This record gives sequence, C-alpha cells and structure tokens, in this order.
Amino acid sequence: MAEQQGELLLTPEAVQQRMQQLRELLQKAAHAYYVLDNPIMPDEVYDQLYRELLALEAQHPEWITPDSPTQRVGDQPSQGFPSVTHPTPLYSLDNAFELADMQAWEERWRKLWPDDLPDDLYVCELKIDGLALNLYYERGLLVWGATRGDGVTGEDITANVRTIRTIPLRLQTNDPPEGVEIRGEAFLPLPIFEELNRQRQAQGEPTFANPRNAAAGTLRQLDPRIVAQRRLDFFAYGVGQGVDLPTQKDILLQLAAWGFRINPHFQVCRDLAAVQAYYQTWVEQRSQLPYGTDGVVVKINHLAMQAQLGYTQKSPRWAIAWKFPAETAVATLTGVTVQVGRTGTLTPVAELTPVRLAGTQVTRATLHNAQRLQELDIHIGDRVVVRKAGDIIPEVVEVLTALRPPDAEPYRFPTHCPECGEPVVQAPDEAATRCVNPHCPGIIREQVQHWASRDALDIRGLGEKVAQQLVAQGWVQTVADLYRLTAEQLQSLAGWGEKSARNLVAAIDQSRRQPWPRVLYGLGIRHVGLGTAELLASHFPSAEALQQATVAELCAINGIGPEIAQAVHDWFHDPDHQALLERLHQAGLQLHYTPATSQTGGPLSGKVLVLTGKLPHLTRHQAKALIERAGGKVASSVSSRTDYVVVGEDAGAKLEKARELGIPLLNETDLLALVGEG
Ligand code: NAD
Repeated sequence: MAEQQGELLLTPEAVQQRMQQLRELLQKAAHAYYVLDNPIMPDEVYDQLYRELLALEAQHPEWITPDSPTQRVGDQPSQGFPSVTHPTPLYSLDNAFELADMQAWEERWRKLWPDDLPDDLYVCELKIDGLALNLYYERGLLVWGATRGDGVTGEDITANVRTIRTIPLRLQTNDPPEGVEIRGEAFLPLPIFEELNRQRQAQGEPTFANPRNAAAGTLRQLDPRIVAQRRLDFFAYGVGQGVDLPTQKDILLQLAAWGFRINPHFQVCRDLAAVQAYYQTWVEQRSQLPYGTDGVVVKINHLAMQAQLGYTQKSPRWAIAWKFPAETAVATLTGVTVQVGRTGTLTPVAELTPVRLAGTQVTRATLHNAQRLQELDIHIGDRVVVRKAGDIIPEVVEVLTALRPPDAEPYRFPTHCPECGEPVVQAPDEAATRCVNPHCPGIIREQVQHWASRDALDIRGLGEKVAQQLVAQGWVQTVADLYRLTAEQLQSLAGWGEKSARNLVAAIDQSRRQPWPRVLYGLGIRHVGLGTAELLASHFPSAEALQQATVAELCAINGIGPEIAQAVHDWFHDPDHQALLERLHQAGLQLHYTPATSQTGGPLSGKVLVLTGKLPHLTRHQAKALIERAGGKVASSVSSRTDYVVVGEDAGAKLEKARELGIPLLNETDLLALVGEG
C-alpha cells in the first residue's frame, strides 16, 4: 500500500520510521475513538492508514511490534464500569474495499472448503455503524449486557442496556436456552442523533462527531436516566453460544422470534455476483436509511462451514465487511499547481498520488485559495486527507503533520501569475488572490471556454485545447473576437482540416441565436451562475436595462443579494465591458429578451415534470430543454402539483414519492413521444 502512495524507494530506516509514525498515530486515534468516543480522524482515513501499516508489516514481519494496533481487537475498556469476560470472544471483521478483495477472500476460504457449495451460500447484511453489544440471557432472562471492549473483556453496562426498548428483558419463548449470548449493534437513529447534537450545541456542550460515537458515548453514561432519554436502538445479528441452528439466516429468524429487532434488509445470495448486486444497491440507497451504515457484512450462511473455516487471531474467516466507497482518503501531495480562473482568481490545486474516492480515481484536489493553503501549512511530500462526496470537487481538508517526512519543503504561493507573469493582488477583504491583468492569456482562455460551455452559448468543438490555440494565436482577446474567425484562418492551424474549421465557424454562428439569459451567464460575471442569470434576465430584459440598474434596484429582486448586485453593477460599469457588449451587439448576439422560446400551447404546456435517474440517451440538460421547449416546466422535487415523473435508471427517492402520490411515470421513450420527437 505504501508503494501505491508513491513512496517507492524508501530506505529500510525510512520504512521503519514510517511504521513507527503510523503505529503512534493509529494508537492515538484508536484511543480517541474507542475510549474517549471522540475520534480525531474519519474512519476511512483510519482504515487506510491501518492498511498501509498492515502492508508494511506483511513485507517486514520482523518489525511487527506487540503494541501494533494490528495486533489486537478494539481497545482497553474505559474505567468507570465493572468489566465482564465474554463467555465466547467477540471478533472484529476483516475489511474488503473492492470486488477484487472479495474475490481474494473467496479464494482463501475455498482452499479450506473444497467441497460442493450450497445454493444459499452467503448471507448479506448491512453493516450498521454503531457499537457491538454482547447480551447474556439465562433461562430467557437478560442477566447482563456489555460492550465489546477488547473482544475478551468488555464493560458491564447492563443498567444502560436495559433502557433500550428493542432489547427484550425476557426472550419471547416458553423454551429458552439455558444460557445464550446475543450479539448485535446498538446505534442511534440519524434523526435522533441530529436532534441530540442540536440540543448539545444550544446548551454549549460539545457535539458528537458521528452517530457511532454518540451511541458509544451514550452507553458509557453512568446515569441510565440520560441513556433512556436518548432512545438508542439495537439490531441483533448473531449469537455467541447457546443456539444450535443450521444457518445464519435461521439465527436471524430465531432472534426475531425471540423479540429482537433484526435488520430487515438481509439477503441470502448464491454467489459473489449476487453479493455484488446487493452491495451496489446499498451503495446507492444507503443515504435513504434512517441509520448509518458503512458497508455490507457478508457471512457464510451454513454454520457447519463456518465451524470448519474458523477464525484468525482477529476475525472469522467466514465473514468479511465490504466497506462502502470512501469519501475521505489519504494521499501524498506531490506538488501544487496554480490555476487562473476566468475572473482572475488563482486557485491552488494539489497534485496527488492516485486514491479512490466515492468510487472514482482522484489525482487532484482543490486547496481553495492562498489563505487556506497557509492555514494548512502545506509541505510538498505531506500526507493529506482528501474528501469527495458525490459530485462535489475533491478537496484537501487536512494535513497529517504526524506523518510529515523530515525533508518536506514548505510550499510558497506564487507572487506572480503563472500564466502572464504579472504580480498578483490579494484583496484585503477576500480570501482569493487574483491576477488583474485584463490581457492575461489564462484568463481569456477560461472566459472563452466558459462562453462556449453547454449552459452558456453551447458552442460545440470549442473546448480547452481549441480555446488555448485561439488565444495563443492572438486571434481571440475577448469573446467577441470569436465572431470574426473564418474557416480559412482556422484551417491554417496545426491539426485542423477543412471540415473541422467549417464546423466550428458554423457552431459559433449558431450561438448568435442563444437567448439573452445564456449570453448573460456566458459573460462570466462573478457570482452569476445560470440560475442567477435567468433571474436577472427576467427582471431586466436587455443588457441596456441591466446597465442602467442601480445596486438597490438589483437587490430588490428576491434572490439577489448585495454581493451579486454589486458584482453585476461593477461589471456593467466597466468601460471595457461596455465596449465588449457593443461588439457583441454588432456581431448579432441576443442582448435582449425574445420572449418565450417555449411553445405556449405546446404539448406540455402548463405541465410540471420532475426528472429522476439516468435516462438512456438524453442528458438531464437535454431532457429539460425538450420539456421547456414543449411548454412544460421542470421542478426539482415531487409534490401533488407534479404532473409527470420521468424515470431513468437508478431512480431514487423521487420515484418512491411519485408512487406514493400516484403520479404518472414516463420513461424516455414516453417523454419523446409526448413532446413529438418519438
Ligand atoms: P469493524 O467496525 O470494521 O467491524 C466489526 C464490527 O462490525 C462488529 O464488531 C460489529 O459491531 C459491526 N457490525 C455491524 N453490523 C454487523 C453485522 N450485521 N454483522 C456483524 N457485525 C456487524 O471493526 P471494529 O474492530 O469494531 O472497528 C474497526 C473500525 O473502527 C475501523 O474500521 C475504523 O473505521 C474504526 N476506527 C476508527 C478510528 C478513528 O480514529 N476514526 C479509530 C479506530 C477505529
């Protein structure tokens, strides 16, 4: 793993030093997590550093120390509760992060079970993000309940356990086992967690980092009345000893029959392909669950097989936790690139050794601005924590200074623009550093690219490379220059043919017809995104009207704040921009509103549609444009006012809501037919 991080040629001393650093950091993190219930790093970061240590230990078993966090389960129980020895130990689970890890696991256990496989081979369960409890029932009566602790000894928290309403105090059966250990996960449902943190914040108390820590902190309360108030919940998922049943599925059903809550989403799977499908479903749907999950636990269903496979020192060989894709990971920072934006803002971008984040490979992450960079005290060679959730741009959120190599050099932000070499300016009231040279080729290139982008003038074939070429030639100094380009000129450039040149000129020509709001957006005024441009255009139907607007008039629009108003006002009062507008006007662009390009009386006139999921051919943008052209409106959420919901692949909560409300569903073909493009 260390190699993957880019530290290919480490000397033995450096490897030993890294192992030592990792051990110390992981020990500190484990203590904060298990004992203090107050983690100092995200779980995913802990997991990744842990795997790095594991990999180094696998290469150098001679350097494994007995105090290494890889050598034990959990941590010492905290003081304050009597300890209890578990009749049978509680194990941890090995982790898998991708399909290959699952395949490797299957290969490993297959060697120990070469016989035929049953159809009901695996049981998949959601891995609930809480903390494990062991509950002991004697002749049906709850006698004690304990935390996992180090797996052998836990804390006796019986009084607190008794406050959890989904833990039966007596098993619902006339024929209880003599003694039985029930295992499961105590957790705090998300709405309760959020409410708890709101209350704590209001009372000036520290908030909990995540529901798992809130649950652990709650169960370690010495006053059971506080625990009772917090409404913890519990999913039972296994037994230690005391039950004789053939499969894990039977155990789950038995637990339910005894009166425990079991998680309803478990599924029997015949092979890894089915497991993968289950996993994928929950990668997509887990955010809709009212409790936290961090992966899928895959268990071999038959207890006879489990018994034959047995345990390693830390975990069963017959089960594995397939973790959900990380949204946070650690990478090594190999350099910083400074990018110039279309408004001249300089953005430092971290160049990273590749890491997987939220299902994609990430090699770059934003460092936001010079100020942030300074706060982080970035050194080249640092191990940094990177985060990416869903569609957001990956960002560096933390530097792991404890892992900083001794020779790491601090990074200094440039004092001059990397594109044009002019000195940069740091405005006193902003975090951003800017290049203010209006002729900076970097800025012009970005402006041209923005102008040509899909939501703006939508000029096909005018991407980064072409913009770069045109600016480098000196042919384009403002976007108005695009409208003077000729096919002959373009053809003379390296890599251009007659056809591509003519296509670009035609695409540029087409853009003259784009409506005023898109032109306004394309101008690239600070803070003016497409939505704001549409809003402004609906109140100020021409460039001329906008030019005459005062800041107060702009602010009077619902949705326009003082910052946007000032930026718009300043832009229109800059003589260079006024000259640009004049040239755009001469070039034939739409600097005024031509009302409703949509068809009133069109096939979707007056209808409200909602889009959900991925359509087979149309992009979101295209589908929206089609609907609007047909007179319809696209809303972002489903309500009783929705007329149709257009459903694509992997549709989520909106589809469910539509079904609940009985709203007609359309697929892409239906939509195309409705708008007359079938
Ligand atoms: P684990 O959380 O990876 O897996 C074992 C646990 O899974 C079990 O003890 C049980 O509590 C739970 N589980 C949930 N649903 C289950 C189900 N259906 N069947 C079986 N088990 C189920 O292992 P662990 O040893 O408890 O903890 C290690 C994890 O703790 C690490 O992966 C890390 O994410 C976290 N940790 C974080 C930090 C930090 O600083 N953030 C420090 C130490 C540990």
